[in-house]
Amino acid sequence: MTGNRDLYEILEVKRTATQEEIKKAYRKLARQYHPDANPNDPKAEEKFKEISSAYEILSDPEKRKQYDAGTMFFGPGAGARTGTGGYRTTYGTGPFTTGDWADLFGSLFGGGFGGFTGTARQRGAERGEDVSVAVKLSFEDALKGVTTKISVPQTVSCNVCKGSGAAPGTSPTTCPQCQGRGIVSQSQGFFALTQPCGRCGGTGTIIEHPCPECSGTGQTRMLKKYTVPFPPGIKDGTKIRLKGKGEPGRLGGPPGDLYVIAQVEDSPIYERKGADLVIEVPVTIVEAALGATVPVPTPEGMVRLKIPAGTQSGKMLRLKGKGAPRLDGSGKGDLLARIRVVVPERLTKAQKELLQKFDELRPEDPRANLPGWTAA
Ligand SMILES: [Zn+2]
Ligand SMILES: [Zn+2]
Repeated sequence: MTGNRDLYEILEVKRTATQEEIKKAYRKLARQYHPDANPNDPKAEEKFKEISSAYEILSDPEKRKQYDAGTMFFGPGAGARTGTGGYRTTYGTGPFTTGDWADLFGSLFGGGFGGFTGTARQRGAERGEDVSVAVKLSFEDALKGVTTKISVPQTVSCNVCKGSGAAPGTSPTTCPQCQGRGIVSQSQGFFALTQPCGRCGGTGTIIEHPCPECSGTGQTRMLKKYTVPFPPGIKDGTKIRLKGKGEPGRLGGPPGDLYVIAQVEDSPIYERKGADLVIEVPVTIVEAALGATVPVPTPEGMVRLKIPAGTQSGKMLRLKGKGAPRLDGSGKGDLLARIRVVVPERLTKAQKELLQKFDELRPEDPRANLPGWTAA
């Protein structure tokens, strides 16, 4: 029984191990303790289950994060099957059943377990993982559109062994477990169950002399450069998908996608509401009362905005088509000018006298007839 043993310890990797290192460690241990290689050895079977369960969690970056954060509970009594967001625990009681095995390979090979047909190369084909990278964009660049160059560390085919995983001058040999078929059959009563070969991982071949460059994985990491065009009007959080530019697939599976996520910086001038931009326009009490034309910055330069006489603080005036470009190409949003009437804080003696005179000319009570205000 595993109890609460550390999953990294089980796979014999450091906590800082990369996904690739975890995969390699799992492969090595799975080969060593596979029930086919250790018939009638309950200890090996238990060990195989343990490493498989650990791999199921650590191979999934999301689950691994939860596990690292201590928010994932496992072990006896943790519940065998949880709903969405949960995971399946294969720690359990009783013997290792073919059902468990099918589940294990089902999740390991990505496809449904029933779907292993065709040639060994197609069996267990797994789509590569999607990769996400964030790119910071200035507010102005996001409005105008910009093409940026990015470098992403990615898994690529090893150029020493050309992806075969075998040391130069050698080649992979036929798997003795499955005779190169990539699958093994197990009979259970009347049923014969066919599953991917655990010895060779479904490839049908075994690497006896691993390539020194990639340790037999056939893959190495390198920085790949991409040119990413951000269209005008892009918003914070917008994802651009570069199809097929994610991690390579396994066993002939298609590659994943690369998602480039725009992180748009805030503007000190504008507040963005979809394709509309909001700007605060301070005006004097005289401009607000008498009306005026004031300059307002737009993304394309200064324009003059007409303030009607009697404009109140908070009033929104619309400058049509002066906002952000719409991503669908249907023109631009508007620039909304939010008026803020600035009341002078210091007045000269002459100004005070003028304002008092103004009040005497036309006494006003802005609170008259408002609900809640009764005559004192
Ligand atoms: Zn190599
Ligand atoms: Zn095999």
